Amino acid sequence: MNSGSDSDSFDEGDLTARGRKAKGKSGSRANEKGKQKAKDQGYAWEATYTRSWDTVQEDEAGSLTGAVAELLARGRRRRLLAPAAAIRRTIIRHLVLLLDLSAAMSDRDMRPTRFDLSLEYAREFITEWFDQNPLGQIGIVGMRGGIGERVCEMSGNPQDVLKAISERHKLEPIGEPSLQNAIEMARSSMSHLPTHSSREMLVIFGSLTTVDPGNIYETLSSCVKDRIRISLVALAAETKICRELCDKTGGTFGVAMNEGHFKDLLFELIPPPAQQHTGAGAGGKMSADLMMMGFPQRLPDTAPAALCVCHAQMRAAGFLCPRCGARLCDAPTDCDVCGLMIVSSPHLARSYHHLFPVKPYSVVTTLDGVTSTTCHACARPLEDTPSANVSEGVSPFDRYRCQDCKSDFCTECDVFVHDVLHCCPGCET
Ligand SMILES: [Zn+2]
Ligand SMILES: [Zn+2]
Ligand SMILES: [Zn+2]
Ligand SMILES: [Zn+2]
Repeated sequence: MNSGSDSDSFDEGDLTARGRKAKGKSGSRANEKGKQKAKDQGYAWEATYTRSWDTVQEDEAGSLTGAVAELLARGRRRRLLAPAAAIRRTIIRHLVLLLDLSAAMSDRDMRPTRFDLSLEYAREFITEWFDQNPLGQIGIVGMRGGIGERVCEMSGNPQDVLKAISERHKLEPIGEPSLQNAIEMARSSMSHLPTHSSREMLVIFGSLTTVDPGNIYETLSSCVKDRIRISLVALAAETKICRELCDKTGGTFGVAMNEGHFKDLLFELIPPPAQQHTGAGAGGKMSADLMMMGFPQRLPDTAPAALCVCHAQMRAAGFLCPRCGARLCDAPTDCDVCGLMIVSSPHLARSYHHLFPVKPYSVVTTLDGVTSTTCHACARPLEDTPSANVSEGVSPFDRYRCQDCKSDFCTECDVFVHDVLHCCPGCET
């Protein structure tokens, strides 16, 4: 609807932030009506719309540091809201990513197009997802031309999954999407999964319509029965069926307002979900099941080549299943011969941090009784003069303290510890 109207917003020289907003959005239409009108807002619906470049504000000196600090502070405040009590999480996850590849995805309301942006974010999402969920597996299903299209089989190897969406020309958006066909296809690829693993679907949906062969509510109820959790990120607007798919299956629904918000919505789905209470234990008491895992033997590079059971190709490197001795290419995986789950101990250890996350650091507002003058992690000297007008959740001394080991950290290290490292450097020593 607006693909042409904002394409000429960048070639005007000296626009102020407000001028850019008004002129950029009304585009050529405004030029015809003269400069007087250009100062006014565009269409009424555009007023409720925020572009990603409008949300970043420069300070008086033209610097963006304030905006970046505000962004970090927002992340910190969100962390404080997270539940502190122990919750049970599924660490063996299975996710099918459903990508809308219909004509609606070539819309340019997100730059460069919805399609290109979704592919880019999907790649980042997959990399980060595997980093945080090393025992998980991802499959990809595309929706276009009224059918569901299997883009990538369920796989625990990030390279395999990324390769499947690396060739853009094979995924060119065309036709209408079919939610029902795609969900049915994703559901069938998860039907064999054991009960201890999660079954999740993440839909990136740009269209406002779906072309279905039957009643999609039947698909919805079979997903509820199979305990599949559907989450959906809509790029256009909220539709009832999308909202219902998420609400009834316990997933999350969101409409992306701009490029940054789209990414936030996706990345919120990376930490493993808390386990749902299921019908069996009416009192909400979940039973713990034991599961069998095997730690494979890694073959040396000098091992003779042999057929692997997963791809039926001659390979020298790989792993041996500890139960049946079958040769496998990757861990983690399920042994194709005996069905044993094959994991390596680093994978297990890396899954651990979700169960025992680092507690949020507290904001240091006064230097009374402070002894350290440097950041405990990077040894950078910390401020001793408070900086003026900081927003809520930001320390005027750029100091954040671990409540357990009482060490102080700088902003960068605080973010790094909680987002990447997942253990406190002060508590470990
Ligand atoms: Zn193989
Ligand atoms: Zn085996
Ligand atoms: Zn530091
Ligand atoms: Zn600590």
